Amino acid sequence: MTVQHNYNDFCKPKLNKLLSALKLDKNYIKAEGNYLFTDDGKEVIDFVGGFGVSILGHNHPTLINEMKAALDNRVAINSQCSVRSESANLAQLLNEYIDNGQNYKVNFSNSGAESVEAAIKHAYKVHFDKVRREYERITRILNDFYYKVEREGIDVELPGDENDLIDFRNDLDEYNLNQFESFQKSPVIAGLKGSYHGKTCSPLKVTFNKSYREGFEGLSSIQSAFVDHDKPERLKELVNEMACVFYYPVLVGGKVEIHTLKITRVMAFIMETLQGEGGIKPVPEETLSQLASIHDELKIPFIIDEIQTGCGRLGSIYSYQNTALNAIAPEYITLSKSLGGGLVKIGATLIRGDIYDQDFGILHTSTFAEDDLSARVAIKALELLKENDSELLKRVNVQGGKLLSSLETLQKRYPEIIKNVRGKGLMIGVELTPLRSRSPFFRATGKQGVLSMLVASYLLEYHNIRLLAPLTTMLKGNPGKNRMSILRVQPPATITDEEIDALLTAFTEVLDIIQSNNEYLLVAHLIEQKLSPEQRQTPVTMEVKWPFNEEQSHIDARTGFIVHPTKVQHLIDYFFPSFERYEWSESAMKGWWNNIARFLEPVHVKRNYITSRDFILENNLVFVPYLPEYLVQEKEAYLEQEVRDKVQDAVTIAKELGDDNIPVSIIGLGAYSSIVTNNGITVNDYESPITTGNAYTAALTLQGMMFAANNVQPPIDITQAEVSVVGAAGNIGSVLSQILALQVGRLCLVGSGSSTSELRLKYARKTCLAEIIKAIKTELNAGVTFEHTQLAGVGKRVYELILSSGESQQLKFFNDVQEQADIDYLSKQLDLILTQYHSDEYEQLFLIRADFSQLKSSDIVVVATNSPDDELIKTDMVRPGAVVCCASVPSNLSQSFEKETNKYLAFDGGLSALPEQSEIKFVGMPENGLAYGCLAETLILGFEGQNHSFCKGPLSSEHVYQVMSMAEEHGFELGNLKLNNNVLLTTKDSTTVNA
Ligand code: PMP
Repeated sequence: MTVQHNYNDFCKPKLNKLLSALKLDKNYIKAEGNYLFTDDGKEVIDFVGGFGVSILGHNHPTLINEMKAALDNRVAINSQCSVRSESANLAQLLNEYIDNGQNYKVNFSNSGAESVEAAIKHAYKVHFDKVRREYERITRILNDFYYKVEREGIDVELPGDENDLIDFRNDLDEYNLNQFESFQKSPVIAGLKGSYHGKTCSPLKVTFNKSYREGFEGLSSIQSAFVDHDKPERLKELVNEMACVFYYPVLVGGKVEIHTLKITRVMAFIMETLQGEGGIKPVPEETLSQLASIHDELKIPFIIDEIQTGCGRLGSIYSYQNTALNAIAPEYITLSKSLGGGLVKIGATLIRGDIYDQDFGILHTSTFAEDDLSARVAIKALELLKENDSELLKRVNVQGGKLLSSLETLQKRYPEIIKNVRGKGLMIGVELTPLRSRSPFFRATGKQGVLSMLVASYLLEYHNIRLLAPLTTMLKGNPGKNRMSILRVQPPATITDEEIDALLTAFTEVLDIIQSNNEYLLVAHLIEQKLSPEQRQTPVTMEVKWPFNEEQSHIDARTGFIVHPTKVQHLIDYFFPSFERYEWSESAMKGWWNNIARFLEPVHVKRNYITSRDFILENNLVFVPYLPEYLVQEKEAYLEQEVRDKVQDAVTIAKELGDDNIPVSIIGLGAYSSIVTNNGITVNDYESPITTGNAYTAALTLQGMMFAANNVQPPIDITQAEVSVVGAAGNIGSVLSQILALQVGRLCLVGSGSSTSELRLKYARKTCLAEIIKAIKTELNAGVTFEHTQLAGVGKRVYELILSSGESQQLKFFNDVQEQADIDYLSKQLDLILTQYHSDEYEQLFLIRADFSQLKSSDIVVVATNSPDDELIKTDMVRPGAVVCCASVPSNLSQSFEKETNKYLAFDGGLSALPEQSEIKFVGMPENGLAYGCLAETLILGFEGQNHSFCKGPLSSEHVYQVMSMAEEHGFELGNLKLNNNVLLTTKDSTTVNA
């Protein structure tokens, strides 16, 4: 266990988190033959085979003996720069198996990527030398021409509008130098789409997967050009298009003609015969044959990357020899993985003798390359493959054939789940479908490639079988795009029929589970539930909930809205409806989900159509997987960033749902997605405008609160009432306070009690003063005197207090109010006056509390917090008869309010009624034509045709007033006052239901 802990901390912490979320974080302490052994005593059949390395099985006894013998004889591992006889023997052996009449020089290294690196470096040097020599020759020609014309005083007609010989020479010189440098700056390597050649800088350039490449693009100047499998002839065009063209003058009669010399910048073409990491994709035989036929004409070297396919994996030492490519003598062949027999780390780059650059062996060295120990083991490994008339190599094909055909049979049985089975020898891939017809969890994980990892997890847990997906599956992909869900089956040649049968039985079991649409059975072990063999083997079929709704053809506008589960139950309702049938624990589910959610992408979950006055708006919900606790909990900076990135991905997904005709005009940030992005400030909104939706939430909260105050028995006179705002320092809370300050009798600003709470509340109080000043200023400008002021409650009293301050103070202040534009300055001044002259009353008008003590005396309590606590506000904190309006999502109102609706009018505020009986149905959303204010605001802006961000960053009262008038325009209004699913007060006919 200590080892795992260390791995967690010191090695690959994020990868380990994923492995642990999938229970793939086993500590294997022993490996033998076809098995790996865990520290808790499990024997696991290894179908991963070290990602292709262990064709001979783990720790082959002959290789161990060879290694032991070498060590017993004190093999000279470190005799660099001497005659490395074992390496020479290995090189000779590798040549013997080629048999194409060529002699290959072999550069040894320590890994696959290094052997590709060496091939690329060599190809670059050869090509660079050629380009350089041609450039130098052209420069000489130009120089000779110049001196000849100059010295001999020949009268020449220069081409184009050139008339000065020196300028002409300099221009050509400069142009040719640019061409030469264009090769240096961007030499090209061509490769096949889907390829994988390693992760050091140069091989990475020809590794197709963008996720691996893009963050490191600038590290190497190599330009990559990828060709489709079915368009190999495109290579010819590339070689032709990507070229340096040198110009040189030729004197013909008295005229100077410009001649050209073209050299391609494509220095090599690299390929695997069967792509491994790219998803076990055999390159079609037709492509290989076309490539072979254009090889000579292309005049660029071919690098055949046999790192995974070679040394036995496909039943031969060099797989290309069994394909049409055998017609050519490849310039380079790279090997690694199985070459070391699974025991030593070794790579080899075979370079055809006729193109070999003699200096390369001096220029390119590596301390550990060519060591005698690795070479000896590699020789033995090759001999093992070849012994007894290549018995093992033949077995690769026999067992591979059995595996392939039985997996193909499975595919025929489960065509909805297995998209494709493919491969050769013992390199087989099973690709799963995106499972569009299954429930949301299967659809999402199928689309994102994560399903293959879940299958791997299941097989390991219940059947002690190790299968894995390519590593790419574990990386963040292009948001919203399909990613292959593929399992790699790459066991040792010694795999037995029984072991293959065990795989098939286990695989069938998990396929049945997927077929029956039962998520619970697939993930139960991850949430600490035990399943009986019977439960697993006879899975209960679950109906498909939440099938994806197809697009409606006629729409006028589109919006997007980011949601996330605000309770575990929402997660269950949407992703795991099968859980309702079984036992599960909320805390285990929460724990697991918080781990795995990091590795899940946002999902487009729903399209809804809302109509207002014949205008149809399509709203798209995009679901970010995180739960509220995870979003707001204090976490390391990189996790904060990850969360922000995920919201950004959700925004990108939403944006891409639009098209040229009807783009997604605005994207709302629901619930905590606005909080974690600092109210949208960190979101890239230059391509897709955003809104936090906070303005309409605030508007509805105020409207709901007023409505409740008028309808509660006895009604509450707002202008006399004491109102507490819980969360007054927050984005919504502070705007609510500002607006309420102009209306209510006394305002209590309540904070979270954190260390900065008081400071933040004082700031919020100043923003309230600013609002009062703005109102006074408007009235003064309109010539309205105090006697006729519209200000009420706190605002009016503050106005009065200013008037009762010393005359000079007053004069100065009102003067400033009329002349100064700086509201911040003015509110500071007012704060000073009130503190200095009316401190007692000031404190009574604007109470500041970092705890909930004041709620008990408040007539109205408004709640707008970021807290995920669903018991934050309890009945015993407020006084009977009080109105409690909570705008937080998830709600902060304790369940106890539901039982005492006759004592308190407590409701979830911020709900809007949608126009024209439109409905938005999704988990966690209010029903019966209601919508959260933030979503409603997004829709309103969609109807409005707003094409720039609306509420982003701090919210202002102007936003609130603006959105109120837009809402009215488009038929949105305050919805019924509800607590959970109970309607307490209907807004249409003002009947009190329970209060
Ligand atoms: N080329 C191919 C075809 C490979 O499959 C791999 C490894 N998966 C590499 C290169 C890189 O090898 P390594 O991981 O040893 O650097």
